[in-house]
Amino acid sequence: MSKIEHSINDDLKQLLQQAAARHSHLCPRQVLGVRIGLAGAAALGLPGPRRDKRLLVILETDGCFADGVETATGCTVGHRTLRVEDYGKIAATFIDVKTEQALRIIPRLDVRQRAAAYAPGETRRYFAQLAGYQVMPDEELLAVQTVQLTRPAAEIVSRPGVRVNCATCGEEIVNEREVLVDGRPLCHACAYGGYYATSIALPVAQIQSAPRAEYDYA
Ligand SMILES: [Zn+2]
Ligand SMILES: [Zn+2]
Repeated sequence: MSKIEHSINDDLKQLLQQAAARHSHLCPRQVLGVRIGLAGAAALGLPGPRRDKRLLVILETDGCFADGVETATGCTVGHRTLRVEDYGKIAATFIDVKTEQALRIIPRLDVRQRAAAYAPGETRRYFAQLAGYQVMPDEELLAVQTVQLTRPAAEIVSRPGVRVNCATCGEEIVNEREVLVDGRPLCHACAYGGYYATSIALPVAQIQSAPRAEYDYA
């Protein structure tokens, strides 16, 4: 794999300003997001900001880090070029959907300690990280793994616009996200159980006047 190189430069400064503007502050995780976004896109030869759909980024957390990666790559949930598999980890995988080449990038495990050396005189850890992450060379900051996807990129992306109705709840499922169970198309919630549980379907007009106790879990 080719060596990843990025020096702190005006482009990085500009991206950090953009990330901070959308995020209302600049924090260490955003800097990591921008640095990892730049490194991943460059390593695949697909520098951002992308206007096409060739680069797919899978993030392993949401939050500040995601804003940084989005700013650096131009990949977004709206363009279907950015996805979150929420493992609660500062990590991102960069996929060239044409070649299926995939790289997973994380901050080095000891990156917080290393950052201190790049922010001499800064005793506050947060600010040492904020400053250090901006100037550390990639090899000090990041660890890069070549990874194999467990399913084809085309399947992860899926075909947009395909529609089918769930055989159980009747709701429409788009982008080939249905699951076939005994030959019947089901939505994830009906097939596996979802992040929500339904009780009784209420007509919309009744929702506002429904007894509050039913919805009050506090
Ligand atoms: Zn933040
Ligand atoms: Zn369903």
